[in-house]
Amino acid sequence: MNPDIEAHLRRSVNFPSPPGVATHIIELAQDPDIEMGKVAKALSMDSALSTKILRIANSPLYAQRRKSDNLRQALVVLGLNATLTLALSFSLVKSLRGGKSNGLSYDLYWRRALLAATAARALGDAMHHSLAEEIFLAALLQDVGMLALDQAVPDLYIDGQRLQRQHAALAEHEKKRLQVDHAHVGGWLMEGWNLPERLHRAITHSHHIDQSSSAEPAQIFNRCVALSGPVADLFLLDPEQRQFAETALCGDRSLGLDKMAFGQVLGTIGAMIPETEAIFETDLLAKQHPELILEHAREVLMLRSLHALREINTLRVAAEDSSSRTLELEEETRRDSLTGVYNRAYLDHFLGREFDNSTRHKWPLSVAFADLDNFKGINDNFGHQAGDRILQATARILRGNTRETDLIARYGGEEFVLVLPATDAETARSICERIVLAFRNTGHVIGSDQATVTISIGCATHGAQTLFQCVADFIKAADQALYTAKMRGRNRSVPFDRQIPGALARIG
Ligand code: GH3
Ligand code: MG
Ligand code: MG
Repeated sequence: MNPDIEAHLRRSVNFPSPPGVATHIIELAQDPDIEMGKVAKALSMDSALSTKILRIANSPLYAQRRKSDNLRQALVVLGLNATLTLALSFSLVKSLRGGKSNGLSYDLYWRRALLAATAARALGDAMHHSLAEEIFLAALLQDVGMLALDQAVPDLYIDGQRLQRQHAALAEHEKKRLQVDHAHVGGWLMEGWNLPERLHRAITHSHHIDQSSSAEPAQIFNRCVALSGPVADLFLLDPEQRQFAETALCGDRSLGLDKMAFGQVLGTIGAMIPETEAIFETDLLAKQHPELILEHAREVLMLRSLHALREINTLRVAAEDSSSRTLELEEETRRDSLTGVYNRAYLDHFLGREFDNSTRHKWPLSVAFADLDNFKGINDNFGHQAGDRILQATARILRGNTRETDLIARYGGEEFVLVLPATDAETARSICERIVLAFRNTGHVIGSDQATVTISIGCATHGAQTLFQCVADFIKAADQALYTAKMRGRNRSVPFDRQIPGALARIG
């Protein structure tokens, strides 16, 4: 870090060093032979702290049948590490909260910090990470550098309140002015406070959402923290500023959370917010209602399988039998009766929505047109009923080789269309190839016979390389690619290519 800034920060007397309790907790946490009795004793010195720890142990987050009514029991429920981490969160928040602001809105700052911490915890849980509380603490403190900079460089955040709603721009502003951003300052500060290395590392890297494929717990830890800020913004910002699609895509790329899993995480956060508000005595959402935000998320992400959100709503609103029956009926009218996949009418509806969304959010969308090869021969040789069973098997194979969030529809006869949201051309190509292979390797038993039915697929992607004018052009492109696949000998998949001559023909 720039020595001037460092000197500035060291001098800035207003910025508190960790309070006595916190220092003590850090020391305790670093002692490998720490005993529960000692921790309980240390925590009981601070009665507000003990009350909060008890409250958490008895909260739905740690659903326990037996109520803890003393610190020792709470320690058993929470575990030593989690207790220390939570205690540290409380005491640091308490000591940092008081300061006088120069340009930042501290209210907004703390709302985002607590929402990010809640989000990080939910992400950590979704990833089955064993250090959910430490992830919480790292996310809670990830922007602590902003508080320090606000004290050390009083005119830095003159336009702070606007910048606070655009986190990336805020960091850019800091770098332009100081050649360092608050993430680095925060990491440096936490290192100075002797916090565990994984905490200050995650804070230093909190502006970088790592998308490599490594699944090491340490990487997952950092990614949960880095993603928590953008996820917090989904709850914090005004509807037109929320970037659901982009954030979901980051969740997919960095943590492998598909849209459904991401939607579930949002639902979990929504459900955790009241508890975090109560424990930290803050209103996190100002005037906004979590249900409205989740509703918005669902609309944007079009999570067909957002059962999780629906369930959370039902928990709150109590069971609504009649409305779920309506949903079932609605679902039935969308399905093809022979194969159970979606019908053409619903495909049109869904694809239209996805197409608009993809255009608006610059989110790739792929569509694949699939047609069984020489299917007429199957009917001719084995009968129409056998043909029907193969169509049913086709639906199963397609389902088995796509994601929950992909839509499968029967376009007509032996033609199927797959809609693959948030899927770029390269991924679409590998999905289609996997499907072709699956058909090639499936033997269908028909009485005493066995038959193999291959499939031809054409796919097109609306995204970085090609933007289609309208849905009709988009689907036609996939259809043209299918025609090429048939021309080239069937039993293959072909991506759409404007260069292919005669691509405008329509297959029969
Ligand atoms: P290609 O490789 O060129 O696609 O050849 P194909 O034989 O698959 O194509 P064609 O379009 O000539 O024939 C499609 C056949 O699919 C004809 C029709 O009898 C059959 N078919 C369409 N709908 C159904 C259905 O619901 N059940 C059954 N069993 N067959 C169907
Ligand atoms: Mg930050
Ligand atoms: Mg066919």
